[in-house]
Amino acid sequence: MSTQMLMRPKRPNVPFVDLGAQYRAIATEINDAISKVIQEADFILGHEVQLFEEEFASFCDARYAVGVDSGTSALELALRAFDIGPGDEVITAANSFIASALGISHAGAKPVFVDVDPYTYTLDVAAVERAITPRTKAILPVHLYGHPAHMHPIRQLADKHELVVIEDACQAHGARYKGKRVGSLGHAAAFSFYPGKNLGAYGDGGMVVSNDRDVANRLEMLRNYGQKGKYQHLFRGYNRRLDTLQAAILRVKLKYLEKWNAARRWNAKLYQKHLEGSEVVMPGEAGGAEAVWHLYVIRTEQRDQLKEHLIAKGINASIHYPVPIHLQPAYQDLGHKRGDFPVTEAYADRILSLPMYAELTGRQIEFVAQTICEFQSAHRNGEITSEIPMRRVSPSL
Ligand SMILES: *Cc1c(COP(=O)(O)O)cnc(C)c1O
Repeated sequence: MSTQMLMRPKRPNVPFVDLGAQYRAIATEINDAISKVIQEADFILGHEVQLFEEEFASFCDARYAVGVDSGTSALELALRAFDIGPGDEVITAANSFIASALGISHAGAKPVFVDVDPYTYTLDVAAVERAITPRTKAILPVHLYGHPAHMHPIRQLADKHELVVIEDACQAHGARYKGKRVGSLGHAAAFSFYPGKNLGAYGDGGMVVSNDRDVANRLEMLRNYGQKGKYQHLFRGYNRRLDTLQAAILRVKLKYLEKWNAARRWNAKLYQKHLEGSEVVMPGEAGGAEAVWHLYVIRTEQRDQLKEHLIAKGINASIHYPVPIHLQPAYQDLGHKRGDFPVTEAYADRILSLPMYAELTGRQIEFVAQTICEFQSAHRNGEITSEIPMRRVSPSL
């Protein structure tokens, strides 16, 4: 072996995501799209932004889409567009990425966390109902890992209490709930185009989708200095626009999203097949749900040892998320303690995200599953026990 080969950094056998592989498959189209924007010097709210907004709205079966600079901004600005702010409470899941809560906080409102349903990892609707107070203004369900939340009962609850529903669809581009796309199931929805998401930019980006014209108009001003016409500022808006270069890249990628999501669904089936008979709890789809598998999250009692073992074998497994939001220092002031959300907390110690992306090969998936099964037969130290009843049969949404 030459020294050069020895010095080369070791590539994992199975990376967690492989954005390079995705780029190589569409490189010419992407490069042309970038080059076109630069040649036309059409950088700020350029034509590509408008076209991408139209195409993405249509992809979500929604009327309007407004491009912003991140998913976190999309959440914040969507809430602001509904005049939700100081003094208001917004109910969301304790087991999301922290940005779900940050969007609420940055709008000036208070996030009120509730626990999740143990099968789908999405909002427990009964817990949402118990958390409603006279200050509650909105519910913010998260379609976590690409699985849609229980939107019908959530909408019913919201209608009864006159609450706004903002979907956090940042992990769920293209997922379906009873045949309908996420993004069109609430009053507005927030998407992220962070590079690793199912539809990812080459930098930051986000989108708010809505069927409400007034809300879309307000968002267009909010992201652009509160500007209606040129130099006419109706309120103190922000600079939170979707970059035109990113929009051009995302337009190319949107054409492939269905194909990539189908590949993720196929990969999830392969994991399911090869992990059958193992002791890990596999994720499932509730009846009426079509998940897009942003993450493939299993559960096991020996999570930390299994993760270490996988990484030693060159399989980059990861944890989403190791510390629930209510136990993060950032939300210390809300006064939560361990024990407040038992499902979320129990899962935080057991969940493990396996590599998941469209370009993953059948052989890689088999290798991951085989490595897990080998680990388990070597460490068979008893039953998987849990204080939470694990429903293995898919419930209906
Ligand atoms: C990624 C993500 C966000 C935030 O998106 P950014 O573009 O990173 O700001 C919000 N909510 C969830 C559930 C996410 O996964």
